[in-house]
Amino acid sequence: MAKKQFKSESKRLLDLMINSIYTHKEIFLRELISNASDAIDKLCFISLTDDKVGLNREDFKINITVDKENRVMKIEDNGIGMDKEDLDKNLGTIASSGSYRFKQENEQADDVDIIGQFGVGFYSAFMVSDKVEVYTKKYGADTGYKWTSSGADGYTIKEADKDSAGTIVTLHIKEDAENENYSEFLEQYRISELVKKYSDYIRYPIIMDMTHSKVKEGTENDEKPEYESVTEPETLNSMIPIWQRPKKDVSDEEYEKFYHDKFMAFDKPAKIITTSVEGVVTYKALLYIPSKTPFDFYTKEYKKGLQLYSSGVLIMENCEELLPEHFRFVKGVVDSQDFSLNISREVLQHDHQLKTVAKTLEKKIKNELTSMLKKDRETYENFFGEFGRGLKYGIVSDYGMHKDALKDLLMFYSSNSENLTTLSEYIDRMPEEQKYIYFATGESVAAISKLPQAEVVLSKGYELLYCTQDIDEFTLQTLAEYNGKQFKSVDSDDLGIESEQTEDNAEENTEALKFVRDTLGDKVSEVIASKKLVSHPVCMTAKGGISFEMEKYFSAVQPEAGMKAQRCLELNMNHSAVKTMVDLIGKDDEKAKKYAEIFYNQALLIAGLPIENPSEYADLVSSIM
Ligand code: ADP
Repeated sequence: MAKKQFKSESKRLLDLMINSIYTHKEIFLRELISNASDAIDKLCFISLTDDKVGLNREDFKINITVDKENRVMKIEDNGIGMDKEDLDKNLGTIASSGSYRFKQENEQADDVDIIGQFGVGFYSAFMVSDKVEVYTKKYGADTGYKWTSSGADGYTIKEADKDSAGTIVTLHIKEDAENENYSEFLEQYRISELVKKYSDYIRYPIIMDMTHSKVKEGTENDEKPEYESVTEPETLNSMIPIWQRPKKDVSDEEYEKFYHDKFMAFDKPAKIITTSVEGVVTYKALLYIPSKTPFDFYTKEYKKGLQLYSSGVLIMENCEELLPEHFRFVKGVVDSQDFSLNISREVLQHDHQLKTVAKTLEKKIKNELTSMLKKDRETYENFFGEFGRGLKYGIVSDYGMHKDALKDLLMFYSSNSENLTTLSEYIDRMPEEQKYIYFATGESVAAISKLPQAEVVLSKGYELLYCTQDIDEFTLQTLAEYNGKQFKSVDSDDLGIESEQTEDNAEENTEALKFVRDTLGDKVSEVIASKKLVSHPVCMTAKGGISFEMEKYFSAVQPEAGMKAQRCLELNMNHSAVKTMVDLIGKDDEKAKKYAEIFYNQALLIAGLPIENPSEYADLVSSIM
């Protein structure tokens, strides 16, 4: 029979596994048990509604057997099993696995690191075996299959009789070599130790024959009782899921392991939340706030939701209804005996109990984030850097319904310091006479801080929020105010800041302003003497409801709509260049017009808006140089 080749990416990883010098080879057992448990979860779930499965919750188990002489270890489950396609897809390629994608996204991550922290699933079997067989039958299928591979040179699949659904993974354990001990994996005590260490929380019994020496029956009361060696099956794991154990009994390391294992995560969680609620709905939850954005977070592949268990049976891998959109980064598990076991997806969506749980969880998550912000600023700022955008979308979405819940979690850069600030901290620093919370939008903090229209706010000593994300302005518009103070863009025509001298000049220069307005025609809706410019000659501000940031946003996502902000050209009548133009009016109108055009284009450039004709502009500037 022809051997099939592994997909090339898998082959690389397989080579890595086979030749691994990694010292924690023992994790292979955790990986295989975890696969067995997942497979049982699937069939157990089907059995809730399908009598044909013929198994009850208590019938599901994982069996480990060892044959020291022949150096064989078997891990058997009565889970869902695999058919031929599954075998090809699941064991023929590793490209779909989270670890592999992580490797691709993080070129610098070294190989040993991946194996150690995250495991590489099924393939880790090759760290300890020179040959692996998978003997399996899918639930509902007519025939079983046997998949065999001795490593990187490929694998074969052939039909094989198997009575019931499930999978037996047979490992042919490698011979010991110099400095390499594999025989330990054939020792009962060692296997039992590994199960306790890595797989204790698995919710199905992991059973293995254990040999003990025992007092021989009938000799208990003898002066010299006789001993005999007895072999009997024992359950190695406590089966208490990690979220059912008291927090004080679980180490951070165990919580993190679980997070990595269950959620394909690679980071150290920023926060681990445990909660136990008794009330209308009684439930326990274990939640994780990641510290890094998952690689697929902004793709369709990313699934929001929590794992939902009912008394230890996995009901749903991703129950979306348990998390609001703005906390979609949260990972975790909810377990409640109050959910009926045969809930279908449709019913769940309308489940009142589910809504109750979702509501309390949302509150809990918010409180944890608030306390992180207060007590562990660095972690929070890092978290906000990763997921802040999502919180802002949360404010804007659903017509601002969540804004009160989220506004205190927001952070912005500001002119106050290099660090992020919250809105409440901004308010605390406001001088008494300051009327508004000022903000400016732009590409970067550096670009915004140099905006001419920001100058008057900054020169007054008022703090300015720097909005560098496209969502920022929408966020502030949705909020409208914070603690009674309205938000004010530096682009708006009235900043609420008095600037005496320009007021009078405005009168004097009416004629000059009209001249510029006539020169520019439809390009601007207004030309005014600026009240906010201090040292710069010009700036462009937006009149009416549409800002330049919105114009840029819509020209990117909906160019056909042609949405444009009304341009208001502001001139600093005290600036020498502007004065030169004013002097030219009536004496050399052609030249004065050129000035007007140049001011207009400069203002566009500063606002980050495209100029209509760059080469014409360059010619214009050159012509008066
Ligand atoms: P992961 O478990 O991270 O998806 P693995 O390489 O460990 O990656 O396994 C690949 C896939 O093979 C699993 O997702 C599952 O579909 C299938 N599989 C592995 N072991 C079993 C098993 N014992 N029973 C049924 N399916 C299995």
